[in-house]
Amino acid sequence: MVIIWDPPLDQDASKWRDIARRIARDHLTPRAADIDRDQRYPRENVQLLHECGIATMFLPRQYGGGGASLTAFCTVIEELAQACASTSGIVATLQLGALPLLRAGTCQQKDTYIRALVTEQKTISFALSEREAGSDPSNLQTLATPENGGWRLRGEKRWIGGGGECSYYVVFAQTEPGRGRLGIAAFIVAADADGVRDDAREDKMGMRGTVNSTVVLNTWVANDCMIAPPGKALKLALEALNVGRVVVAAQSNGIARAAFDAASRRASVRTTFGQRLIDHQGIGFKLADVATRLSAGRMLTYETARSFDTGQDVALIGAQAKLFCSEAAHDAVDIGVQVFGGEGFVKPSLVERLYRDQRATEIYEGTSEIQRLVLARAIHAEFNNEEQA
Ligand SMILES: Cc1cc2nc3c(=O)[nH]c(=O)nc-3n(C[C@H](O)[C@H](O)[C@H](O)COP(=O)(O)OP(=O)(O)OC[C@H]3O[C@@H](n4cnc5c(N)ncnc54)[C@H](O)[C@@H]3O)c2cc1C
Repeated sequence: MVIIWDPPLDQDASKWRDIARRIARDHLTPRAADIDRDQRYPRENVQLLHECGIATMFLPRQYGGGGASLTAFCTVIEELAQACASTSGIVATLQLGALPLLRAGTCQQKDTYIRALVTEQKTISFALSEREAGSDPSNLQTLATPENGGWRLRGEKRWIGGGGECSYYVVFAQTEPGRGRLGIAAFIVAADADGVRDDAREDKMGMRGTVNSTVVLNTWVANDCMIAPPGKALKLALEALNVGRVVVAAQSNGIARAAFDAASRRASVRTTFGQRLIDHQGIGFKLADVATRLSAGRMLTYETARSFDTGQDVALIGAQAKLFCSEAAHDAVDIGVQVFGGEGFVKPSLVERLYRDQRATEIYEGTSEIQRLVLARAIHAEFNNEEQA
C-alpha cells in the first residue's frame, strides 16, 4: 500500500538512491543527533560522501563527476535529509558553488577547479549574500576594483555555507557602485589566499552541522579568475539558485518525511483516553494532511527535476516547488512536535531537531516571500502582455 507517492526512477537514479539510503541508514542516522548537539561540521560524513561519489555526483562526467541527473540528485538529497538534514545541506552547497563555474567558466577554469573538486576532494562555496544584500542581491557592497592587471576584492560576505571549510569561493562583487546588477561580476577566489578570512561562524538554531560564516575579503585576484564579467554575473547567480531551489524542495521533503514517519509511529502506539492517538480524529486527520501534502510536494519536485533534465526552464516551477515543499515541511514538523506532546518539546527528540532544521528551508536560496515575489512578477508580466496584445 502506497501512502506517500514515489517517483518513477530510471536505473541510474535508483542506483544513487540505494547508495544514499545505505549511507544514511548506516552512518548518517546514528550520528545526526550528536552533530546537532555539538554543532559540529561532520567531516567524516563529507569524506564518506566523496568516497562513494555522492559529493560530486551532479558534476559532469568529463571532469570526473557522476554526471547524474537533477532527478537523481533530488532523490539523494531527500534520503540524506531524512537522516541528517545538515549533511544534505553540505552536499547541496558543494554543487551550488560549482554551478556558476560550470555554466560560465572557461575551459581552463573548469579543468582546474571542477576537476579538483573530484580528484582532490576540494570544495567550493557560493558567496553572494551580504549584510545589506540578502533578498536583494543587486545591492552588493563588496567591491571589485581593477588593480595591477587583475582585481582587488574588498568586502564582507555573510552566511556563507562552508565558509572556513571550503577550498574556493565563487564571489559576486560590484565593479561600478551605483550600477546595480549591471556592475556585478563573479570571481573564483582561493580560500587560503592572502586577504581572505572566515570570521564569526554563526551559532544557528538548526542545520547545526553546516557551517555558515562571514567571509572577509581584501584580496587580489588575477584577471583569469573572473568567471562572469560585469552585467552577466547576477543572472548566473540566479540561474544557480533556480537549480538550488529544486534541491531545497527535495531537502524539505526529506525532513517532512522523517517527521511524518516518527509522528505516525508514535500515534500508532501511544494511547490516551483508551484509544491510540491515530484513532483520535484530531490527530489522524492531521497526519492524513501531512501525507497528502508530502505526495503533492514530491510530485512537484520530481516533475520540476524531470523538466530540468529534459532541458526546460524551471525558474518559476522551481520557485513553486521550493515554496510549496518548504511550507509543507513547516507544517509537517510542527504537527510532528504536537503529536509527541511534551516528548517532542525536549531534547534529544528527533522531531525537536527536525523542527529547528526545517526552518532554514524557508530562508535560504530565497525566502518564501521572495519566491512569491518572483511568481507575482511573472504573473504580472504575463497578464500585462495579454492586456497589451
Ligand atoms: C542557514 C543559511 C545558509 C545560507 N547559505 C548561504 C550561502 O551559502 N551563500 C549565500 O550567498 N547566502 C547564504 N545564505 C543567505 C540567505 O540566502 C539569505 O539569508 C536570504 O536570502 C535572506 O536574506 P536576508 O537574511 O538578508 O533577509 P532580508 O533580505 O533582510 O529579509 C528579511 C525578511 O524580509 C522579507 N522580505 C525582503 N524583501 C521583501 C519583499 N520585497 N517583499 C516581501 N518580503 C520581503 C524576507 O522574505 C525576510 O522574511 C544562507 C542563509 C541561511 C539562514
